[in-house]
Amino acid sequence: MKLPKIGFVRFKSGKKVTGKIKNVTIRLSSTGKYYAIVLVDADIKELPKANNSVGLDIGVADLMITSDGVKHPTIRFDQILAKKKHYWEKRLARRRLQAQKEIAWDKHNKALVPRELSDFKNYQKARLMVAKYSEKIANQRNNYLHLLTKQLVKQYDVIKIEDLKTKNLMKNHQLARAIANQSWRELRSQLQYKCDWYGKQLVIVNPRKTSQICSSCGYDDGKHTLEIRQWTCPNCGINHDRDINAAKNILNA
Ligand SMILES: [Zn+2]
Repeated sequence: MKLPKIGFVRFKSGKKVTGKIKNVTIRLSSTGKYYAIVLVDADIKELPKANNSVGLDIGVADLMITSDGVKHPTIRFDQILAKKKHYWEKRLARRRLQAQKEIAWDKHNKALVPRELSDFKNYQKARLMVAKYSEKIANQRNNYLHLLTKQLVKQYDVIKIEDLKTKNLMKNHQLARAIANQSWRELRSQLQYKCDWYGKQLVIVNPRKTSQICSSCGYDDGKHTLEIRQWTCPNCGINHDRDINAAKNILNA
């Protein structure tokens, strides 16, 4: 890749860059890797029509529930790597403290060139390791979302999801909720641009009453609190999984 002022640099990419390159942004990650973000003008081939529509309900335990009854779990990639990350976080905290103490001594002793944090190799190593695990967790989460959204745009022509605003309004400081929020936003943005690319349609529907109306007969069963995972419609007798029923209502909306 030839960059202005720098010249030729080697790069590695999983995908061949096609189309007319409009601009390149170089980013240095906290793990010391350089990334080139390439903006191209390209014609993307639309995906064949599947003659199928789907409604998606989103949740915390299950990230995504489809109106076809498929549940895609929330995978806690952060928990999978938590032990290893924590190992380095502890070292990072200790080494930072130690380095700060030594810097303070340098200054106290009026050292000609007081050391800086960047001079402490062990501290820098711990910092890099923590950043590496954070990056790995983020990459795993994003890969999972890309896999899901690509599958959806292949499988369906019209994808309906709830407007996220009301879900975000739920005040909850739990980590699980924070992660869900982040994933939902990413999920929606990926769906939006992939639908645009591949000739599919994303429809945002009003989430009002999606968890209390019977998707079979339309009976309004009143508010269902969050603990109610399933219920039987008193009008038509169908037993509903709360989330799948909601997804069906989103599809019908
Ligand atoms: Zn019913």
